Amino acid sequence: MRLKTVIAHGTHSSPRKSCTTAADGVFIAGTCQGPKDIPDTVAQGAAAAAAALSLIDLGKVNIEPITSVIDEDACAGCKVCISLCPYTAIHFDADKHVSVVEQAVCKGCGTCVAACPSGAARQNGYTNEQIFAEIEGALGLFPEQQQPAEAEIPDGAPVPA
Ligand code: SF4
Ligand code: SF4
Repeated sequence: MRLKTVIAHGTHSSPRKSCTTAADGVFIAGTCQGPKDIPDTVAQGAAAAAAALSLIDLGKVNIEPITSVIDEDACAGCKVCISLCPYTAIHFDADKHVSVVEQAVCKGCGTCVAACPSGAARQNGYTNEQIFAEIEGALGLFPEQQQPAEAEIPDGAPVPA
């Protein structure tokens, strides 16, 4: 895990919050985050241990469902997505020469999807087809779908003029 992820959340004054990072389940304490004295380091270490324990106590972890995936056949291996992912959720498979999204780490921010020049990175639930269909629906480009259904007139009922 790259250091930028670890220090991303490192400026909060509360030891409980300053020990968290952008990656779920990764906590930090001490001077790896920045200069601090021994009492602050000890307090932060205790907070980090408590935060880790609370996760273990849950027994399970909920992960983001709207993650991105990379199409191996379309990936050009340029690594642009790797440098941009704020959660360091993408690694490079040197054997296949493609990038791979770690599903448990991805937060579904969509940065890699927007940046991928090959269109290889796609976000579950937000494919281009789904987004264009949403836009067309919002703009009313399918007026035939907006016509009210013809009401059935019961037998014997007066027919409106
Ligand atoms: S930016 Fe796109 S083409 Fe480049 S490595 Fe990432 S997924 Fe592959
Ligand atoms: S959607 Fe965001 S968090 Fe997930 S891999 Fe892409 S850039 Fe990283």
